[in-house]
Amino acid sequence: MVRRVARWMDETVIARTSKRSAGAGQAPERPAAEPLVSGPGLVSERNRQAMVEALQRGGLRDPRVLAAMLSVPRHLFVEQGLASRAYEDVALPIGHAQTISRPYTVSRMIEIICAQLDAEQMSGARVLEVGTGCGYQAAVLAHLFGEVVSVERIRGLHERARANLRSLRLPNLRLVFGDGVNGVPKAAPFDVILSAAAGSEVPRAWLEQMKTGGRLLAPVIQADGQVLQLIERRTREEWRLTVLDAVRFVPLRSGLA
Ligand code: SAH
Repeated sequence: MVRRVARWMDETVIARTSKRSAGAGQAPERPAAEPLVSGPGLVSERNRQAMVEALQRGGLRDPRVLAAMLSVPRHLFVEQGLASRAYEDVALPIGHAQTISRPYTVSRMIEIICAQLDAEQMSGARVLEVGTGCGYQAAVLAHLFGEVVSVERIRGLHERARANLRSLRLPNLRLVFGDGVNGVPKAAPFDVILSAAAGSEVPRAWLEQMKTGGRLLAPVIQADGQVLQLIERRTREEWRLTVLDAVRFVPLRSGLA
């Protein structure tokens, strides 16, 4: 763990970076992909329980996040041929050259964003997810927060996510087809913004669409690799940046596809 001082938006803050590099398929801090469950047809609650226990062994602590991970059937979000691997801690292909994030990545990101929020703040919060993909993380977020808006730029994935999520009936989750680089101005401002795709910087629109007191977590590409950036909006004019884990996410791209 290295401590360094970073300068950003006219503010000097302490930044924490992890020297450890990410393993294959989006891995903050956890050293290597460890199979959680293997074998055919293992799509039951027991497998999810095993997944959650493995997440706990990996250092996840927040009981609210672990409960949400236990609730969402991840096998519904991967292709049938991959369903037996749905509870392994790996990123899996979802088509269109994109992946479903590792359970560890999803839970770690949400745990960071939930820290310091009490039950009332969580149930009152409006969240923006950039990069719906197959919709898995959106479903986990919808179990935890009052209102979730998730935006995806690839129409095929937006529609796939809609189909995947139908049976879960999450009335507090709204899917938007659009370019998330612009945020979702119609639904702003947000208490929480979470990006599942890495850009070379955090788009200005996201900073502007945060509420004062809001938190944003996004992977950002730096010269030496991707890192997770946590940004807190302290006043209308002041944002504070903390650099967290080394990570690996798919790229944030502009425009629709
Ligand atoms: N949230 C997903 C992860 C999806 S991978 C999960 O639950 O596993 C990241 C997604 O970000 C991809 O689907 C990609 O198409 C999308 N993405 C990349 N750039 C984007 C942009 N500008 N706007 C919206 N989505 C974007």
